Amino acid sequence: MDASIYNAAVSGKVMVTPDIMIITIDTDEPRKEFEAGQHTLLGLYGFEKRSFNSEPESVPADKGKLIERPYSIVSAKSENRRFEFYISQVKSGQLTSRLFNLNSGDRVYVGTKISGIFRLDETPDGTDIVMVATGTGIAPYISFLRSHIIERPESKMVVIQGGAHHWDLGYFNELTFLEQTFANFFYVPTLINADNHWDGYRLCIEDLLKKDTLQNEFNITPDPERTRFFVSGKPDMVKHVSEWLHDFGYTRHHPDDPGEMYVEEF
Ligand SMILES: Cc1cc2nc3c(=O)[nH]c(=O)nc-3n(C[C@H](O)[C@H](O)[C@H](O)COP(=O)(O)OP(=O)(O)OC[C@H]3O[C@@H](n4cnc5c(N)ncnc54)[C@H](O)[C@@H]3O)c2cc1C
Repeated sequence: MDASIYNAAVSGKVMVTPDIMIITIDTDEPRKEFEAGQHTLLGLYGFEKRSFNSEPESVPADKGKLIERPYSIVSAKSENRRFEFYISQVKSGQLTSRLFNLNSGDRVYVGTKISGIFRLDETPDGTDIVMVATGTGIAPYISFLRSHIIERPESKMVVIQGGAHHWDLGYFNELTFLEQTFANFFYVPTLINADNHWDGYRLCIEDLLKKDTLQNEFNITPDPERTRFFVSGKPDMVKHVSEWLHDFGYTRHHPDDPGEMYVEEF
């Protein structure tokens, strides 16, 4: 079967757990400059093999069709050929079960456009930035930080990352390193099901915010004039945090109708 549409090759793959991976993909041709936080399409044909630990597909893939889905780019915006992605396997899913079967050197399709309105560069200079994530929702923030942390010393920047177990805290080492390196960056991981070795927060993100942790620890107020919020991850968490912010006067950002709260669900 014809896979000539494939325009990139896997250059690295780290399995964080059997169902979470960091994959780097090199495109044959460079891509145009993008903004941190944006996404592109990855694609594989339905005839490709699925991973050993996948489950029967909820909707069986058509063998002759390219399956495409959007993924946030983890890499800094200075990259134009080597792109990193942080991907969670939906065991019954069409694309992730095939992406998880890829190895170094394997060919894959990467969209030629990079797009999205989940962008740090649109926030006013000097505003504090709070980035809230569960699961693979951390991906765009790593791109934000790799691209912009040096440029915004006047903004306090906080990442609040929620999960159940320690292995849900993707990029924990990088985020901890940034916290130790930059005086204006704060990392707040919280785990609801951690073992006894965990000495961090044990609250769900919604409760952590309601307990005024941002105010008490970092003197950051949920004030639309002073603080921009990014919220990315599981739909339930995104909904609850958006509702909480709405009560402080936040509105959802759209380029045609600018707001102070940037939202991405996945
Ligand atoms: C802007 C944007 C950026 C994204 N970035 C990322 C990213 O960086 N990393 C990443 O892993 N994903 C990301 N996603 C999600 C991704 O596009 C796919 O939806 C996801 O990988 C599932 O694809 P699939 O083909 O394997 O599953 P599908 O075949 O599309 O879905 C199969 C079934 O699983 C359900 N399902 C879909 N997604 C999930 C999920 N996450 N958890 C549980 N059930 C699910 C569907 O409702 C469906 O019933 C992003 C989505 C958007 C819109």
